[in-house]
Amino acid sequence: MSKELHHYINGQKVTGSSGRFGDIYNPATGAVSARVPLASSAETAAAIEVAAKAFPGWRDTPPLSRARILFRFKELLDAHLDELAALVSAEHGKVLSDARGSVIRGIEVAEFSTGAPHLLKGYFSENVGRNVDSHSVRQPLGVCAGITPFNFPAMVPMWMFPMALACGNTFILKTSEKVPSTALRIAELLTEAGLPDGVFNVVNGDKEAVDTLLTHAQVAAVSFVGSTPVAEYIYQTATRHGKRCQALGGAKNHMVVMPDADMEQVADALMGAAYGSAGERCMAISVAVAVGEETADAIIQRLTPRVQALRVGPGNDPAAEMGPLISAEHLKKVRGYVDLGVEEGAELVVDGRGLTIKGHQQGFYLGGCLFDKVTRSMRIYQEEIFGPVLCVVRVPDFDTALQLVNDHEYGNGTAIFTRDGDTARAYSSQVQVGMVGVNVPIPVPMAFHSFGGWKRSLFGDIHMHGVEGVHFYTKLKTVTSRWPTGIRAGADFHMPTMK
Ligand code: NAD
Repeated sequence: MSKELHHYINGQKVTGSSGRFGDIYNPATGAVSARVPLASSAETAAAIEVAAKAFPGWRDTPPLSRARILFRFKELLDAHLDELAALVSAEHGKVLSDARGSVIRGIEVAEFSTGAPHLLKGYFSENVGRNVDSHSVRQPLGVCAGITPFNFPAMVPMWMFPMALACGNTFILKTSEKVPSTALRIAELLTEAGLPDGVFNVVNGDKEAVDTLLTHAQVAAVSFVGSTPVAEYIYQTATRHGKRCQALGGAKNHMVVMPDADMEQVADALMGAAYGSAGERCMAISVAVAVGEETADAIIQRLTPRVQALRVGPGNDPAAEMGPLISAEHLKKVRGYVDLGVEEGAELVVDGRGLTIKGHQQGFYLGGCLFDKVTRSMRIYQEEIFGPVLCVVRVPDFDTALQLVNDHEYGNGTAIFTRDGDTARAYSSQVQVGMVGVNVPIPVPMAFHSFGGWKRSLFGDIHMHGVEGVHFYTKLKTVTSRWPTGIRAGADFHMPTMK
């Protein structure tokens, strides 16, 4: 009998009562490691009520007191970094060093949120009219919900809730049902840091819980990260129900390689960005756009032996560079794309489909795959594969490369590798993508900048964390005040103007 997980509501573990469960796998072995309760609509609504009840007290807690709790939380995260990384790796499958890095990037957002009192300061104008002053403040929204994907069990939730809490909101996290343990542990650390009960809650579940969050009158805002079809559904449903919503979706990230680029640096960058985390990153590079035949040949020549030599293994093997995929179903889907690429006529230079790992034959492993001569009409180019599969597209010049990237439906991240400043500047300026790297393959913005893509990689207007995060989790109020001065203004029937 596998371990049974729980929800975390009102500062404590809560046993699921829906009678529905999801299996959690260890992707390295293929074995079921636990089962997670999937909340019913009634259980989800009860958690929302708890968060709504906790809101007035938390809203009225001075921003500095809220920040101090988050400061203690950040210190606890640091102290439990290895434990959290191990939880991420055990359920997601990514190698420990990578899991650790992802937790650190999440902690950085918690750290940034401790500075919220400064960011929440409003502004003031004296004498906007005679004896009339005006000031603007940012106030919290109420109960905010976060719905997160499987690929970053710690980092993506932390793009959302630390800033939401720092701004005075209460929060319901519906983490991915494939990787729930990290969020449940994080919830305990928040309680240990001194967060009042009910301010942060974890509800495990699937579509039923999500739909309740999207439609419940007490939820003010929804942050989502996941695949594009679900992101679009979340955005449409949440906004139709009057909620503020930011919904980040899928990606197909291109790295343009100019003929003058440092080819050794390019090869290093492509190895890490295409095959790190088995390609299960929304900022993974999945297309290398080689400008010129010689550039393409140089890339293929350098990458082929390195992809063949990739060390694939369980996440807790220190020698492994790449772990398994998340599930048997996802492995089948990614393998299906490799089969499709061959059918479509792309040249499969390295085929990872035959890989088995000794002692882990049931694990969800796929070796690195490298396609050359991929064209824009192929589905392996158009669709997000989300696995260790890199497609090389050959183009004759910079303008064709730029057009290719701009024509793609996704616009999450991109990079250009070149030594030429003019080319880099033109690309950064003209590319229709939200996050751009110049000789940097995975340009994930730091916590004090904001994360978000363009086109069908983001539904909504406001990116996550940084100052945009403060704007998402607050609404602006402007107060105009006049103090008795002994001067009677008299009744005005026209639009007030400055006197
Ligand atoms: P997913 O869309 O399947 O699931 C994301 C969340 O939505 C989960 O919590 C899941 O329970 C819920 N969900 C799934 N189907 C639903 C439905 N029909 N109705 C309501 N809720 C539903 O995504 P995933 O497979 O967990 O994650 C991988 C995807 O996330 C990839 O497409 C990847 O590009 C994307 N991603 C994007 C970013 C970004 O910043 N843009 C970051 C990480 C991951």
